[in-house]
Amino acid sequence: MIAENIKPLRERIAAKCAEFKRNPKEIRLIAVSKFFGVDTIKEANRLGITDFGENKAQELRDKYEILGDKVTWHFIGTLQRNKVKYAVKSAAYIHSVDSASLSDEINNQAGKLNKVQKILLEVNTSFEESKSGLIDNIKVLELAKHCSTLSNVELVGLMTMAPFTDDESIIRQSFSDLRKLKDEINKIGFDLRELSMGMTNDYEIAIEEGATMLRIGSAIFGQRDITKDWRQS
Ligand SMILES: *Cc1c(COP(=O)(O)O)cnc(C)c1O
Repeated sequence: MIAENIKPLRERIAAKCAEFKRNPKEIRLIAVSKFFGVDTIKEANRLGITDFGENKAQELRDKYEILGDKVTWHFIGTLQRNKVKYAVKSAAYIHSVDSASLSDEINNQAGKLNKVQKILLEVNTSFEESKSGLIDNIKVLELAKHCSTLSNVELVGLMTMAPFTDDESIIRQSFSDLRKLKDEINKIGFDLRELSMGMTNDYEIAIEEGATMLRIGSAIFGQRDITKDWRQS
């Protein structure tokens, strides 16, 4: 089933890239494997998917124990300070940094492992209270400056989730706001390259608006059964 899903997905990504003159090599496809077991991840990996996204620190830790660095891991969920160590141990990228205290703890744990942890700042571009991430552009800038003082953290980009809506223009606005914010930050001397945006329902708009990392779950693995633990599926 994964094979049947991946082929048309890749074709649509390639078509969007061609249409909007984007280089497909600049776009990393992250398969969001939360709720799915390691056999499913292995199958996707055999089909050429190299990057996987997880949103729970312990689930990532446990999958990492089994699969290790055979694949590239991305942490994309809310991260509690006491679980930072699991994410730092396994993830090449942590996409969801939204406070100085979290960046400090990442720096601290990465230091213990002699690692420079790549991170992205999560921005709430939809102004929905239920969503995590920084709402205020000034705060994003402040946090970016703070991160540049941390020797075991490398800030590489910004991440967002679009609002839940069928209104394409609102989704597009949210993605273009993120891109503009990245450009603003780079104007004052940063070198942010990554825009982590676009999920199953909105990745084509994200490509048009400059995404470099797509976080796609259900279009690859099918619907998640949230009543089951990943060990059972
Ligand atoms: C689950 C999740 C995704 C993937 O969602 P799909 O709609 O299944 O593609 C992307 N980003 C984050 C942060 C997620 O938690």
